[in-house]
Amino acid sequence: MKRRTFIEKSILTYLGLVLSPTLLVSCRKETLFPDSNFSGKVIIIGAGAAGLYAGYILKSRGIDFKIIEASNRTGGRLGKKSDFADYPIDLGAQWLHGRNSILGDLSKSTGTKITKDNSDLVYWFNNQITSSISEDVDSIVSSNSNLPDISFLEYAQQQGLGNEYKYLVEQIAGDSGADSSDISIKWNAVEEEGWNSGDTDFKFEESFFDLIDKNITEEIKGSIILNTPITKITYSGENVLLNDKFGNSYQGDKVMLTVPITILQDEDIEFEPALPQSKIDAFNKIGMGAGMKVFLKFSSKFYDENIAGGEICAAYVDEVVGKNGSDNVLLAFVMGQQAEHLTSLGSDLAITNALLTELDAMYSGQATVSFINSHVENWTTNPYIKGAYSYSKVGIGNARSIAAKSVNNKLFFAGEAMNLNGHHQTVHGAIETGYREVINILKS
Ligand SMILES: Cc1cc2nc3c(=O)[nH]c(=O)nc-3n(C[C@H](O)[C@H](O)[C@H](O)COP(=O)(O)OP(=O)(O)OC[C@H]3O[C@@H](n4cnc5c(N)ncnc54)[C@H](O)[C@@H]3O)c2cc1C
Repeated sequence: MKRRTFIEKSILTYLGLVLSPTLLVSCRKETLFPDSNFSGKVIIIGAGAAGLYAGYILKSRGIDFKIIEASNRTGGRLGKKSDFADYPIDLGAQWLHGRNSILGDLSKSTGTKITKDNSDLVYWFNNQITSSISEDVDSIVSSNSNLPDISFLEYAQQQGLGNEYKYLVEQIAGDSGADSSDISIKWNAVEEEGWNSGDTDFKFEESFFDLIDKNITEEIKGSIILNTPITKITYSGENVLLNDKFGNSYQGDKVMLTVPITILQDEDIEFEPALPQSKIDAFNKIGMGAGMKVFLKFSSKFYDENIAGGEICAAYVDEVVGKNGSDNVLLAFVMGQQAEHLTSLGSDLAITNALLTELDAMYSGQATVSFINSHVENWTTNPYIKGAYSYSKVGIGNARSIAAKSVNNKLFFAGEAMNLNGHHQTVHGAIETGYREVINILKS
């Protein structure tokens, strides 16, 4: 979930090329793909957007590959629940951020129903819901590449925003999956200078998950191995050897890692030989905080479409916008320390109650009386994700470029955190990295 109000958009497209809307790879092969005699086997670790798209492209090139996925399903940080409301809900990514991307093309060519999300924003400010506030927090906290490398919070304070604005600043940082005290006002802007997928956020009538599942995963499902966490990669020999948690081994000529940056930071995968220290340092300079989505179903719609500024949850969003259904579902989009706090409460019931208490305060007790049920999707406690998405931490510098560099022409790094075009923390950004690393493998 990202706001695009303050970013200078460039009209460059990915790698300076507009991708074909038809088969996602099709007629631009001559320009998109290098001449290559590569005929080895590629192993992709992770069946999220980046890994799935990489597999899709490899299949289209007739290259032998397998995708090895730790969890019991495909999609990674995309997920769908069909039995909560009278419309499907996306458990992870749900907005298509602009249509000028491979996924924008795919949504067009497949006739996928998407709607512009123009929903209105209100603020919880000084203990009341209001549609306007005296300070334009958004423009004050706007990222600016000319500013020093300080956090959103520090900058907001320097600009005279008092404590009463704390959770409005938090909501803006939370859009980037971050705490306001961690995300850099400078680097966030520097990294996003390349953002070119468009300003408009779209919602799927069905689900974002389906777009990938039906059009990409479906094509390659025979090459995906589930329930297989990779724990060790040995790349000293001619081939790369992979071991999983159960003691099985796999062999490939090239390996593409698409796991979340948290998995690399926590060294959940051992490398033999160890990765260069500069690379490990780079992983650790990239931010990825806690994140969860809590869906609250109510018998009446007492709330506004977007509510910013809660102390328990800084961003509530009306789920029904863009959907073909009528159930009243309010999404609590909880990021950073707020997600850590809710996780620490220990149960879905406690999380739900904390949110209902806050909504009762905002809307005169109407939440609890009309509450039906909830679904908590906590991405932080998912052992193969461990958070929301990457952000530009204070001090990040060029860490993403170093993190994304291949090692020994054998290990290739993709996934949203490795996006260098400002599209990190998005699905289309993850897809772009899968595509980029296929090209790098073909060139290697
Ligand atoms: C709550 C939330 C809301 C979001 N909202 C949006 C949105 O509205 N729009 C948008 O564009 N983006 C959004 N995003 C971000 C988007 O979901 C991600 O950027 C994108 O899906 C990441 O894809 P990926 O392939 O890089 O990684 P992932 O989807 O994380 O895929 C990595 C895969 O690696 C697997 N894995 C991990 N460890 C191992 C291992 N040891 N062995 C094998 N497999 C392993 C994981 O299980 C996972 O399936 C959101 C994310 C979250 C969490």
